[in-house]
Amino acid sequence: MTPDEFRAAGHQLVDWIAGYLDGGVEQYPVLPPVKPGDIAAQLPARPPAGTVDFDTVFADFERVVLPGVTHWQHPSFFAYFPANSSYSSILGEIAASGLGVNGMSWATSPAATEVETVVVDWMAELLGLPASFRTGGPGGGVIQGSASEATLAAILAARERATGGAGNRQGLAATGPGVGVLTAYATSQAHSSIEKGLRIAGIGSENLRVVPHDVSYAMDADALAAMIADDLAAGHRPFLVVATIGTTSSMAVDPVRAIGEICRREGLWLHVDGAMAGIAALCPELRSVTDGLELADSFCTNPHKWMSVQFDCDLFWVADRAPLLAALSILPEYLRTAAAEAGAVIDYRDWGIPLGRRFRALKLWFTLRLDGVEPIQQMIRNHLAWTQWVVEHVDADPRFALSAPPNLNLVCFHCVDGDYATDALITAANDSGQALFTRTVLDGRSVLRFCIGARTTERRHVESGWRLICALAGGHDHLPR
Ligand code: PLP
Repeated sequence: MTPDEFRAAGHQLVDWIAGYLDGGVEQYPVLPPVKPGDIAAQLPARPPAGTVDFDTVFADFERVVLPGVTHWQHPSFFAYFPANSSYSSILGEIAASGLGVNGMSWATSPAATEVETVVVDWMAELLGLPASFRTGGPGGGVIQGSASEATLAAILAARERATGGAGNRQGLAATGPGVGVLTAYATSQAHSSIEKGLRIAGIGSENLRVVPHDVSYAMDADALAAMIADDLAAGHRPFLVVATIGTTSSMAVDPVRAIGEICRREGLWLHVDGAMAGIAALCPELRSVTDGLELADSFCTNPHKWMSVQFDCDLFWVADRAPLLAALSILPEYLRTAAAEAGAVIDYRDWGIPLGRRFRALKLWFTLRLDGVEPIQQMIRNHLAWTQWVVEHVDADPRFALSAPPNLNLVCFHCVDGDYATDALITAANDSGQALFTRTVLDGRSVLRFCIGARTTERRHVESGWRLICALAGGHDHLPR
């Protein structure tokens, strides 16, 4: 491709993206009506023998790819937790792609490191995080690809601290029977990435204790304290608690302050997973979600979920970076630099799993400068108001019952007729292509999650989503006339 061809194709693609996000996405079903293999069957089995022009590739993108896309930017996407994007963050991504730098260390692209340090500190201030997470003291923040990566980094740092480094350097031999089996704690509502991280770190699923939760699905701190005491008495080595603010199934918020006090007393690492809900703290009136974070050793939240910043972008902070760096720094000759040796710079490759790092900070920088936080705060407030509207309608409708206390932008409810009716309703709604919801299970019961988090959603889409549910559930809807 020549520079001129790139210019022409780039303009065409940007025009298409603008139209797609500006209403164009609504012409597609949220969930594509495809069967496994449908898309692959339309692609040649062998690599292309020759080349074609951009128009041909783009025509195939529209003909083959688009019909198989689940439209996460669709305004009627009420599933999972959202993965938002915005024009500003897309431009930041394009700029990062154009530069094509690998910011593994300061020396490999000083701006990639220094912009990241500054925007992550900006975010700590905008979210009202404790001073211990800011750069300048023992702590600091970094951009990870995902909350799962952040959690794994937290587990490795916690293991480092608990074993004085032996767990990371001597491996399982240093953490096995006889020296006290490293033991972690979370509720059954914690994200699967916690158990996965413990498996990857060699701690093992068996050494994750499932702490009971209360009726709102939040961790029972007294039960946590009792479990830790029992494990200590049995010769285990409790080392980590993962608390969640905004659990995936029902948006429950664990009591971080009470958990943090237990962790401080017993010397356990507290990682707080706020993948979705942490971003709510951008609104000062919602700061209660981050209450107690000054007692946490690490915290993560995802701008790529609720802040309109393009996937992938997770923010991960530690109150003391020493155990993290001790766990993850490794220095082959080819990565030695004078700046790092003088201790004058940050090398973010030492703060996470991969060596190579994209210039992700640009999309945050673009978003904060081009859009600012006000539209994001407004979006969050709208989502909360519309969620409340759904809650009131669920409450007023005898066909449904709330399955968990609604919180922030998530309503969980079920059909009073039982699981069969709830499952059939979710399937029918999703198959309609008009909206997309996720099923979960709470207290053994099938539940429909209605999560309002897409940037493109307007109130009318929420009302249509509710109307769709009412129509498919049978009987008449309970919308105000
Ligand atoms: N933690 C929570 C509470 C989540 O809801 C999710 C995903 O939805 C994750 C972690 C994993 O996020 P990621 O996809 O960034 O790894």
